[in-house]
Amino acid sequence: MNPLYDTLFGRHSGSNAPFLHLPSGETVTYGSFVERVSQMGGALRGMGLNPGDRLAAQVEKSPDAVALFGACAAQGIVLLPLNTAYTPTELAYFVTDSGARMLLTDPEKADALADVARKAGARLETLGTNGDGTLAEATDAAEPAAPEPRNAQDLAAFLYTSGTTGRSKGAMLSQENLISNARVLTDYWRFSDSDTLIHALPIFHTHGLFVALNVTLLAGGSMIFLPRFDVDAVLEALPRATTMMGVPTFYTRLLADDRFTRDVGGHLRLYTSGSAPMLEETHHRFEQRIGQRILERYGMTETSMSTSNPYERERRPGTVGFPLPGVELRICIPGTEDEVPTGETGMIEVRGPNVFQGYWQMPEKTAEELRSNGWFITGDLGVRDADGYVTIVGRDKDLVISGGYNIYPREIEQVIDAQPGVLESAVIGVPHPDMGEGLVAVIVPRPGETPDDTAIAATVSAELARFKQPRQYVTVPQLPRNTMGKVQKAELRRVYADTFV
Ligand code: ATP
Ligand code: MG
Repeated sequence: MNPLYDTLFGRHSGSNAPFLHLPSGETVTYGSFVERVSQMGGALRGMGLNPGDRLAAQVEKSPDAVALFGACAAQGIVLLPLNTAYTPTELAYFVTDSGARMLLTDPEKADALADVARKAGARLETLGTNGDGTLAEATDAAEPAAPEPRNAQDLAAFLYTSGTTGRSKGAMLSQENLISNARVLTDYWRFSDSDTLIHALPIFHTHGLFVALNVTLLAGGSMIFLPRFDVDAVLEALPRATTMMGVPTFYTRLLADDRFTRDVGGHLRLYTSGSAPMLEETHHRFEQRIGQRILERYGMTETSMSTSNPYERERRPGTVGFPLPGVELRICIPGTEDEVPTGETGMIEVRGPNVFQGYWQMPEKTAEELRSNGWFITGDLGVRDADGYVTIVGRDKDLVISGGYNIYPREIEQVIDAQPGVLESAVIGVPHPDMGEGLVAVIVPRPGETPDDTAIAATVSAELARFKQPRQYVTVPQLPRNTMGKVQKAELRRVYADTFV
């Protein structure tokens, strides 16, 4: 028995059903994919990797990179997928921190990473996107390996968090964590073997890796497997697709293109969004253009998905819906286990089979955030309305304390976003000699428009208490975002650190 392998991979053995539709026009069937998984498992074992060993992989998206996930699941090797944008210096931290036995990289990066691997005592191997690289070659030649017996509590992956609020932490995820979430999402979002998903997300992050891949593998559907998000490629794929999963920037970029019409995109049965908040306005524009509502959900590296808007009932823009079946969610007064009344903001805590096993080699951090009674303190502030819909109000790390008051930037951003000429905004707190922190509003204008700072400041003064009013307004062409579309507020705080001092 190897629950993760059996549930997602082994069951497709010998199947002729399509799994991956590649840009080249080729299709990888489930049967041939599972064969590749078994052979790659054999190759990894041949390279000296054993159950429980960690394998750090910084590889581009490709069918072999997906097979790697299967091979690790089958052999009980703990997979550590790493952002392809990380530099060798950044990578050194992950490889050393995780005690990885192998560092797997693209053939072109091997030279630059040789030192990192050597210093960490990891074996360096390569995996390219076209069936090239040392691991791919070893796989071609390897005998298939039978899956190792595992149980559901065994670790499947260390997934490092995005590093939005500080240094990335390695979340230890068990087989059960992944399987339970895949089952719930497949059911909640009605995935089946007749689905074809547009997969344009990276596969080093929970969204593209565990949400998109696992749901497809469990349902037995297929994917139009794109190397990255590219508007032309997605427009071309839409007629063949039934669903798409994206981050908010995918949708804003599609909406910015006149070719994205109801004729082209209206027939999909489901569009989902997550990883970063989606503007209500984007929801409305999408609905006007395409004739359906994007389903927004909420999750994180440590918990996989925790809440989702419903499939059949009302999807409410600006909210992330309800706790998923089997997942408990409560909103507490920060620093306590006392729940706030409905309609009041507090710390979101989550408990369930989806919640991770702790941070790798960070017992103190784990103890701070994962209570012994199983509740995980997410670090996200939220509010639940009378109908049970949850809204993310912001992150506790973004909370600004100015003149002794707690300020939730999102409340101010919403007022600013509604002003003429404003596309979006980010409000941050930076050092201020009198107030501790002072607020800076960073505004992105709509294309071709010039918002009037004075008018915006006047509206903000009329609508919000004085302590919530930004002391400085700046306009920028765009907000700094990472690959997952997350606004990098830490970077903004660095840029504007000297505003008041
Ligand atoms: P780090 O923990 O290292 O600071 P991170 O929290 O950004 O990085 P991830 O696990 O990739 O790393 O992201 C999870 C976070 O993304 C959530 O805690 C939440 O703040 C945000 N998020 C995800 N989905 C949504 C959503 N639909 N709306 C608002 N925020 C979301
Ligand atoms: Mg986080």
